[in-house]
Amino acid sequence: MVNREKREDARFVTDRMLGKLSTWLRILGHDTVYAADIKTTEFEADEDEDRAIISFAEHEARILLTRDKNLALAARKKGVQCVQIKTDEVMEQLKELLRHHINLNLEPVPARCSECNGKIRKVEEGEEGILKGKSYVPAHMIGKWHFWVCEHCGRIYWEGSHWRNMREKLGQLKEFYETH
Ligand SMILES: [Zn+2]
Repeated sequence: MVNREKREDARFVTDRMLGKLSTWLRILGHDTVYAADIKTTEFEADEDEDRAIISFAEHEARILLTRDKNLALAARKKGVQCVQIKTDEVMEQLKELLRHHINLNLEPVPARCSECNGKIRKVEEGEEGILKGKSYVPAHMIGKWHFWVCEHCGRIYWEGSHWRNMREKLGQLKEFYETH
């Protein structure tokens, strides 16, 4: 196992082409804002989307991830850390980040909502009511499994649904990381 110094988790902003990558980065616990979610709320209407993303990345000290060569160039000109993603498949995209020496977590962690990037927290004993209100939570699991809830959108997560299947895929990524 390669030792990595413990640093603050890398934070990202991703362009519209990278929705799936955004989901995965959140599953890995990285604070990741998807460009489509920031445009209208936080920026002046006259600002074009590329400029808006770059200033957002700059302002929040996030690493910009984009498929767009011109956006990547413009970001670098402004001194914004940026990775131009060149592949389509999400595992390959994660490998690209590793190749660029981005410090990625390679274990899924219950920290971020993969839908909205909100923080998730454990559902405590006595709070089962919030689980019963969700039709996608199997009733027989309540009281047996640990659940997490997104503080922003209320989505419920549990180990079986969300993180378990991802470990396998991440296994290959770890091998890749350890050999590069
Ligand atoms: Zn959420």
